[in-house]
Amino acid sequence: MRLFQYQRAVGIDDALRAGAVDDAAFLAGGTSLVDLMKLEVLNPARLVDVGRLELTRIESEGDGLRIGALATNSDVAENAEVQEKLPALSEALLSGASGQIRNAATVGGNLLQRTRCAYFRDLATACNKRLPGAGCDALQGWTRMHAILGTSDHCIAAHPSDMCVALAALDATVRVRGASGQRDLPFAGLHLLPGDHPELEFALAPGELITSVFVPATPQAARSRYVKVRDRASYAFALASCAAALHVEGGRIRAAGLALGGVGTKPWRVPEAEAALVGKAPSDQVFARAAEIALRGARTRPDNSFKVVLARRTAVRALRRAAEAA
Ligand code: SF4
Repeated sequence: MRLFQYQRAVGIDDALRAGAVDDAAFLAGGTSLVDLMKLEVLNPARLVDVGRLELTRIESEGDGLRIGALATNSDVAENAEVQEKLPALSEALLSGASGQIRNAATVGGNLLQRTRCAYFRDLATACNKRLPGAGCDALQGWTRMHAILGTSDHCIAAHPSDMCVALAALDATVRVRGASGQRDLPFAGLHLLPGDHPELEFALAPGELITSVFVPATPQAARSRYVKVRDRASYAFALASCAAALHVEGGRIRAAGLALGGVGTKPWRVPEAEAALVGKAPSDQVFARAAEIALRGARTRPDNSFKVVLARRTAVRALRRAAEAA
């Protein structure tokens, strides 16, 4: 048992002060962080419990919805406005984890979810993400669940979140607070590619706290869909998934959002694939072309080469469902 400090924050400023020391970690639902502490993969010196902060609201704001970082995955998935205006987000959340975990897990924690790479979670193996410069045992190991897009020679871990795939396709913005004030990050800028430094996963300064997410309620978002393919029907991570959003008017696609999960080292949005959809009449041929563009540059290993075809088919299915809704 390793000793750590525990501090319950009574307000955001209090949380930021307490989180400003080295090796502090914010604790909300604890569904990921506590697991990794038990495995001794993560060993924060101080836990700052932000679970009682007033960051649970889901409310209309301007032309979209603002979702508090402490709203639980269940509350977001079952919220009537989310289901009506951002159905892919609800579907993505309901496809993840179990009911019990969704009741505890928060939006902020989900955004910062760590990879499920088995080697990352096993202290007996080499992992650059856990210990920079240690090497990566996955490269010569079992890679069925690993990424094929955005990988580097130092890490091929897949990003695990379903929710993040939907938020990427829906063009969300993440609001954070830190010592130097508040800022909004485009969703695509939150997660970092592994490159030479797989240990750096988020574009957040030390001590910055995610406070909310804003999702625009666009016509395509209202007709968005999430499709997930996995080894069993529930409580499993994606082999491939896709969030698709289409605004079809006059028989043509006017706007599109497309992001893939289970295949990228981060939620995988490809603007070129979206551009290939805009202006076209929806058809399986057009969807297949966009899916092919989305998978460009895939680097496979023997265990996961099946993901290229699987992800293409998953994207076509998600686009077909979004077109039917439109
Ligand atoms: Fe670690 Fe990444 Fe290699 Fe997995 S793939 S062992 S997370 S460096």
